[in-house]
Amino acid sequence: MSKIKMAAPIVEIDGDEMTRVLWKIVKDDLLTPFVELNTEYYDLALTERDRTGDKITWEAAEAIRKHHVGVKCATITPNKQRAEEYKLREMWKSPNGTIRSVLDGTVFRAPILTNCIKPVVKNWRKPITIARHAYGDVYRATELRVNEPGKAELLFTGKNGFNFRETVYDFECPGVLQSMYNKDTSINSFARSCFEYALSTKQDLWFSAKDTISKQYDQTFKHLFQEIFENEYKAKFDELGITYFYTLIDDAIARVMRSQGGFIWACKNYDGDVMSDMISTAFGSLAMMTSVLVSPDGNFEYEAAHGTVTKHYYRYKEDGKMTSTNPVATIFAWSGALRKRGELDGNNELVEFANKLERVSIETIESGIMTRDLSGLCEGITPRVVDSQEFISEVAARL
Ligand code: NAP
Ligand code: MG
Repeated sequence: MSKIKMAAPIVEIDGDEMTRVLWKIVKDDLLTPFVELNTEYYDLALTERDRTGDKITWEAAEAIRKHHVGVKCATITPNKQRAEEYKLREMWKSPNGTIRSVLDGTVFRAPILTNCIKPVVKNWRKPITIARHAYGDVYRATELRVNEPGKAELLFTGKNGFNFRETVYDFECPGVLQSMYNKDTSINSFARSCFEYALSTKQDLWFSAKDTISKQYDQTFKHLFQEIFENEYKAKFDELGITYFYTLIDDAIARVMRSQGGFIWACKNYDGDVMSDMISTAFGSLAMMTSVLVSPDGNFEYEAAHGTVTKHYYRYKEDGKMTSTNPVATIFAWSGALRKRGELDGNNELVEFANKLERVSIETIESGIMTRDLSGLCEGITPRVVDSQEFISEVAARL
């Protein structure tokens, strides 16, 4: 059998701990036997980030801008304990944060469904993808604990002469204050990323906020989304037969619970933080959740939504035995990137291989073969719990 060729490369970003171990097995057993992998490799292992003064992270992000498609292994975001463990020169920033800032992108998280793991919400049949705006709002707010009576004001001093001053509250007792902001440029990028992703996955897009109460802040989000939709995307949506609509967040939640799934739900920063945890838990497991960063100008970076699974890694190192860590989200990060590469290059063989890889991974689970994390969640079959290597070999045998 001749291997599938790739005209253009994927940016391959390696990472840390257990996911790094899985990364290699997935490549060796599921990819290189079938595809002449064309990748531009960046090693973001914490030791390499430390050695290069984190330059490697910036280079990897730039490479995604150049080649438009990347796939990333989970990486350690150092904290104080990690800095000691790895004797770091500096507490390097989160690689995902760096890549997100270079690509100016939005993160989309979608669950991977199988017929033996039933969502908690029984009418959900298709995945619900959450798009979270990851800029501003309460995450960059200025706050104050007020301890005496006094007047709080909102004050704006314009560079071009516009001034604004209004009383927020005349405190007669202690209390709390918060002010937050967002920027049109960031909201526009968020909107364009959402519209691009909806087109790319052929799914409806919902956007929710609370514009009836927040008549400047949330209404700005609503208006910018509507304006961009009408000027740049309406025709393309009509052509594909998909829809965009805005609704109040309360209404959105009621509709989500009654829906069958199969759409993208765009959320403001805080809503997305909270709702994505609800959605992932209700669908089953973090180990069955994919994540893709989409930039408004059409760059895509695929990864698993989970971290480096540190606990399993230390067990693996101590016992020298393979663990039962779920590689499915890592497999789907690769299949997502390969499919996108194939779509961009008109490489049907590659697209079909990616689809098949996903199909047989799910079939493997549905046949009862699965890692430990899923065995407690599955219904209707008796699971056979295997380790990561055995699971990947079972998938390979079905390819
Ligand atoms: P984690 O790696 O997602 O793991 C948390 C727990 O979730 C694991 O201990 C395991 O539970 C379960 N789990 C996650 N993925 C699994 C899988 N594929 N198969 C089976 N079980 C899985 O989160 P963490 O322990 O909080 O973080 C570890 C490191 O990852 C940190 O250094 C953090 O900085 C980094 N991180 C990176 C990313 C990223 O690069 N995108 C994202 C998040 C965290 P049990 O132990 O109960 O089996
Ligand atoms: Mg959260």
